[in-house]
Amino acid sequence: MNITDIDDKIIRGAAATGEPIDVLAELYLAMFLSDAAALRMTIPDVLPRATRHVDEIVALIAVLLERGHAYRTDDGSVFFRIASWPAYGRLARLDPEGMRVGERVEADEYGKDDVRDFVLWKGPKPGEPSWETAIGPGRPGWHIECSAMSMRHLGPSFDIHTGGVDLIFPHHEDEIAQSEAATGQPFVGTWLHCAHLQMGGAKMAKSTGNIARVGALLAGGISPRALRLALISVHYRAGLNHSDDSLAAAGAAIERLDAVVAALSTYTQTGPDDPGLDERLEAATIAFGEALDDDLNISAALAVVFDLVRDLNRRMERRLLSTADTGRALETLRDLDEVLAILPDAATDLEPEVAALLEERAAARTARDFASSDRLRDELAAHGITVEDTRDGQRWRRNVEVGHG
Ligand SMILES: [Zn+2]
Repeated sequence: MNITDIDDKIIRGAAATGEPIDVLAELYLAMFLSDAAALRMTIPDVLPRATRHVDEIVALIAVLLERGHAYRTDDGSVFFRIASWPAYGRLARLDPEGMRVGERVEADEYGKDDVRDFVLWKGPKPGEPSWETAIGPGRPGWHIECSAMSMRHLGPSFDIHTGGVDLIFPHHEDEIAQSEAATGQPFVGTWLHCAHLQMGGAKMAKSTGNIARVGALLAGGISPRALRLALISVHYRAGLNHSDDSLAAAGAAIERLDAVVAALSTYTQTGPDDPGLDERLEAATIAFGEALDDDLNISAALAVVFDLVRDLNRRMERRLLSTADTGRALETLRDLDEVLAILPDAATDLEPEVAALLEERAAARTARDFASSDRLRDELAAHGITVEDTRDGQRWRRNVEVGHG
């Protein structure tokens, strides 16, 4: 996951707001990382930034110039020569003759030899940041930033490259051409391109204002886990339609998960283990893995989880499980959740104040002090915790706000 903190868009944004480019980049990076943390996204070990990889970018362009895949123009820019790379267009299955015809030619790109050629290095311009480098002054083009950062951290060839469908052409075609022309090695083994997020039947886009922001949704009371589930629950190549209904459905599903975790955590039953359970848990684990191995078939994988939840509830209702069984069942759910990250936090993650209230209330129940236990239930409710009394004792779960609008 690279941070292209110098490109045309951020330069335009800085000019419009009057903020320095690096301040703007930090601001949006911080917002992104905070949303990512709220949505329980795995943050990569390295988040490379283009502005800290100018040396690598320049070295890559120097190789392309040396090998005749790139040329300079009068204003100090460097372009990639598409005619030198016959494999261009294979990813997007383009017709080489028809490529880029009709594509808007930037005013600063008129100097290039062929309309299809793309910029690697932009010559210095007043009001734009510029680096003094071995290939002359200027700044990197966007496409080369991605290649240089990927190769610096993952090597000349790596397994998987992801991105939105809108990046296949020209961005990813350009990445392949400039990387493979420089190294002579295959750049990427597998490309995963995700469909656009939709809202109200149209593509979600900053440019049209058809947009829902993570921060605003969470501030409006949507549970981060419900939002995460809504976002992951549709196959990456199918367009996900974001709506109040999809959030409400995800919120209801999160409540089902919270309820089963609470039930499994409190259930007690001495007696024999359920003879069918281990096989059932193993089958679920295998089916879950097989679904994801099938081009990340998330719908099938989630169906495995919710089928298992239904089955576990049924076995608990019939008192078929032993206490040890529920421990193993919970462990399986937590294992599957290593991928999904939608289960409630374990009790050990509770705020100490809430944990103390729960303990106090359980003790009050045991002492048949119902006045105290009712008061403590209200106090816990104020902390967003619902407590129920079951034959297995006190059971709690965090409330999921499903919020509309
Ligand atoms: Zn990129």
